[in-house]
Amino acid sequence: MSEKHGYMKALRCRECGREYPLEATHVCEFDFGPLEVAYDYERIKKSLTAEAVTARPRSMWRYRELLPLAGEPTVGLQAGFTPLVKADRLAKKLGIRELWIKNDAVNYPTLSFKDRVVSVALSRSKELGFDTVACASTGNLANSVAAQAASAGLKAYVFIPNDLEHGKIVNSLIYGANVIGIKGHYDEVNRLCAEIAGKFAWAFVNVNMRPYYAEGSKSMAFEIAEQLGWQAPQHTVVPMASGSLLTKIHKGYQELVKTGLIARDGAKIHGAQASGCAPISAAQKAGLDFFKPVKPDTIAKSLAIGTPADGFYALKVMRETGGAAEDITDAEIREAIQLLAETEGIFAETAGGVTVGAAKKLIASGKIPANESAVLCITGNGLKTLDAIQGHVRKPREIRPSLREFEALVAQEEKAKA
Ligand SMILES: *Cc1c(COP(=O)(O)O)cnc(C)c1O
Ligand SMILES: [Zn+2]
Repeated sequence: MSEKHGYMKALRCRECGREYPLEATHVCEFDFGPLEVAYDYERIKKSLTAEAVTARPRSMWRYRELLPLAGEPTVGLQAGFTPLVKADRLAKKLGIRELWIKNDAVNYPTLSFKDRVVSVALSRSKELGFDTVACASTGNLANSVAAQAASAGLKAYVFIPNDLEHGKIVNSLIYGANVIGIKGHYDEVNRLCAEIAGKFAWAFVNVNMRPYYAEGSKSMAFEIAEQLGWQAPQHTVVPMASGSLLTKIHKGYQELVKTGLIARDGAKIHGAQASGCAPISAAQKAGLDFFKPVKPDTIAKSLAIGTPADGFYALKVMRETGGAAEDITDAEIREAIQLLAETEGIFAETAGGVTVGAAKKLIASGKIPANESAVLCITGNGLKTLDAIQGHVRKPREIRPSLREFEALVAQEEKAKA
């Protein structure tokens, strides 16, 4: 890396293309369009070859040239490179020829895909000289910011709706972060954070640092393609909160084509939401370019964003790739969590249930043809959303520590089966 900004060229407005310096800023002054990182792909092409990538450590940073840092990463060096699991038993249940699970439920260090975006955002925050980081979160982002700020020696403020799952709250507090519970839903937390970001000189990972933060999501697509033997899958199903991950998975596949790592990208990108908060899915199904904001009411709290910042662009990606959206009820979410666990031994959080359940619908309706191949993005761990399934799973049967009692129990079971 010779230049001052590494492989980055500028921040560029998605609407008008105006360029901005590579600072902590996220909207265009002329049309309020979101800013995105622009790269020097010609230079990247020279050092990011398949041989170079596979020789590097197994983390998201093996794609370092396509991630928005000037120098080397300093936070989250172990994030990413999660397993891509061939899911034959689930495939059979869903009625599809070939199915894969990209399992970010075991991402390092906080067991969700947010470890990718936070690794990038905090590394970049340090480059820009910040000593305090902050975020507006539906839970997983708060966990990751709190943990990674602790390990990086940064001060952290995390803002969350006050009705989150117990597991998500404890998983933020334990790291010593300042956790602020807001009496309101995520969209109100987010609005407040935009105001706070204007007053305090902090790195707000999903406000003023959003252009850098969001780029971290591309690494999920890079890894999927590499793990499939350097090709994009026919179908990728992605859970949507703000819609950012979905748009970046698409950008990720496209960049692999641009840099020559894969031959072509024909991947159809599909979006999944909970019916209790489905502004993007509802718009896609109605054939609209714009979503209508909603008030969230679902157990999938990590996806409960009623006014999704990237909803417009997520709709565009689905339209352009030939993808579709689906949404499922809370009861279907619980069923899908259980189905994934019982067939593949993977315990996902509510967002994972949303993805599996939505994929089931997409396959049943033929939007994902049964004779094709799909990747499901599982983005978070079930141990953090136990509240959502408590009371809905079976109870253990209890006996005294006696062989006789156990034999009686087995005999009873045999009888019930007969
Ligand atoms: C944040 C999150 C997502 C996706 O969020 P986007 O805002 O759409 O990028 C998906 N799953 C989980 C578990 C999350 O925490
Ligand atoms: Zn603009």
